[in-house]
Amino acid sequence: MIGATGRAVDAMAWGMTDYSCSRCGTARRIADSVPGTPMHPCSAVAGMTVPLAAGDGSSKVEMVAREDYVGTEDVQRDADGRVWAAVRVTTDDAEHVAVYAPTAHAALT
Ligand SMILES: [Zn+2]
Repeated sequence: MIGATGRAVDAMAWGMTDYSCSRCGTARRIADSVPGTPMHPCSAVAGMTVPLAAGDGSSKVEMVAREDYVGTEDVQRDADGRVWAAVRVTTDDAEHVAVYAPTAHAALT
C-alpha cells in the first residue's frame, strides 16, 4: 500500500506498536488502543512476568533480588525457587518496573 507521502506503508502496522524482550526474544505487535505496558512470562528469567519494551529489542532487563527476610510472607518465586523483588526494563526512551509484592492476607474474626 502506498501512503500520502508516496512511500510504502505497512497497513497492518497502522496504529500498532512492536514490543519485544531482549532476554528471551518474545515479540508482539499490539494495538496502540490497548492500555498499559504489555507483560509476558519470560523464559529467560525462569517464568517471572516481565514487561515488554517498545522498539527493536535493544532493552536492558535487570532482575532485582529481594534482600528482606521472607519469613511467612506469601512471596512470588521463579521456577527455580528464587525470590525477586522487581524487574527493571530500560530502553533509550523509558524505564518500566514491575514489583513482585508479596500477597496480602487478612482474617475476619
Ligand atoms: Zn522475555
